Amino acid sequence: MRMLNRLTISELVTRLASREVSSRAATQACLDQIERLDGRLHAFISLDADHALAQADAADRALALGATHARQPLLGVPIGIKDVIAVKGQPLNCASKILGRYVSPYNATVINKLQAAGAVVFGRLNMDEFAMGSSTENSAFGVTRNPWDLSRIPGGSSGGSGAAVVADECIAALGSDTGGSIRQPAALCGCVGLKPSYGRVSRYGLVAYASSLDQIGCFSKDVRDAAILLEILSGVDPADSTSVPQPVPHYAASLTGDVKGLRLGLAKEYMVGGLDAEIKAAIDAAVAQFEKLGARVTEVSLPHTDYAIATYYIIATAEASANLARFDGIRYGLRVEGADPIELYSKTRGAGFGPEVKRRIILGTYVLSSGYYDAYYLRAQKVRTLIRRDFLKAFEQVDAILTPTTPTAAFKIGEKADDPLQMYLSDIFTISANLAGICGISVPCGFTREPKLPLGLQLLGKPFGEETILRLAHAYEQSTPWHKEKPPLAALAG
Ligand code: GLN
Repeated sequence: MRMLNRLTISELVTRLASREVSSRAATQACLDQIERLDGRLHAFISLDADHALAQADAADRALALGATHARQPLLGVPIGIKDVIAVKGQPLNCASKILGRYVSPYNATVINKLQAAGAVVFGRLNMDEFAMGSSTENSAFGVTRNPWDLSRIPGGSSGGSGAAVVADECIAALGSDTGGSIRQPAALCGCVGLKPSYGRVSRYGLVAYASSLDQIGCFSKDVRDAAILLEILSGVDPADSTSVPQPVPHYAASLTGDVKGLRLGLAKEYMVGGLDAEIKAAIDAAVAQFEKLGARVTEVSLPHTDYAIATYYIIATAEASANLARFDGIRYGLRVEGADPIELYSKTRGAGFGPEVKRRIILGTYVLSSGYYDAYYLRAQKVRTLIRRDFLKAFEQVDAILTPTTPTAAFKIGEKADDPLQMYLSDIFTISANLAGICGISVPCGFTREPKLPLGLQLLGKPFGEETILRLAHAYEQSTPWHKEKPPLAALAG
């Protein structure tokens, strides 16, 4: 039998339900893998093994008393959590120094939902500080490394989540996606990453970065697991007024394998210029595969694509500058004393925030300041509407849009760290979905040749059109070998 930590959710659930294995054994297998590998990978900022095993034992007791996965679909399944989602009694740092020794006094809604479903929620997964970045190099706790090549970044900002799932340190993980932070690390590490539509999942208990863009989503080893998790995470929440009262479908039922007649759009503005030749070849092969499966592929246009990065980095930084005002040394975490409150604020924030977070607070404050507001922030909001309209118009012709997830495979640690603009440009294929509020999924679609690094394709769907992209992603995944490939983990154990 394969090691328990290598299983998918659905595989583990089958074995737990038959009582062939225990949740304690599965959780311990994840903890052992972390012990073996995480010294090199550094996907976890911290880990409370006793808390994890106590939840596993509770799941085993419930199973012994006759609890079923029909009622609790994740009963006994270990799920890793990004360090931006509140878990009661656990540290919450957002990979920043400014939160000091802060411990969350409450659960995020998604954590309540996972626990109600019986999951073993554990670990604090590394990320870029306050989810600002594309490489996990902006963590105050040190970089996470890509399981395929330790000299490379795992993507970001949820780099810890991507690396941990691919390295079998957990069965699946939660992340957050403001401009690609789930889909991009999933692509660069080689797993499935799902960003739900804006409003699909409650953000209560997610530390806000850019509130009009943030969504919680999941990392998993296959598309079926993404469907299982999405169904549990979704739904309206009175504690988050932006969550939408749409019925929650049984997402796994949409994985029929049949995509005949579905219309897929290729955005002509995406397949240009700096696109890496191996990525282009992988996307061309994926298009051929979808056609073989019976989907119809046509070209669509997203004419405002050129403005997406500028628009995103104005709106996201503006919202961040407001959201991060609360970290002032009075209410939470770190405090550096000063002669008066102003000095206390500035000393605390000066010592507590890293350089990228400071850059964004300054940029965001600038675009909101009087005299510049109209020229930058207001204009960006108008362009955002045009970008959303591009998508809604394209979705009149197609059921989903197919794009590469990233313009290149995982780059070297340090390669873009001193060049924020280069880093921002690497988000070109993912940020528009957040601006438009639509859903997106990244699935493995091949590898570069030398070195061997995973590549991802992205399927974008209509608002609340998760069933369609899950169905397409699943049919593609099941007809291709990519999701079965594993990094050379044995070589990593040090
Ligand atoms: N890389 C983007 C940024 O730095 C997206 C991050 C995210 O989705 N949280 O803002």
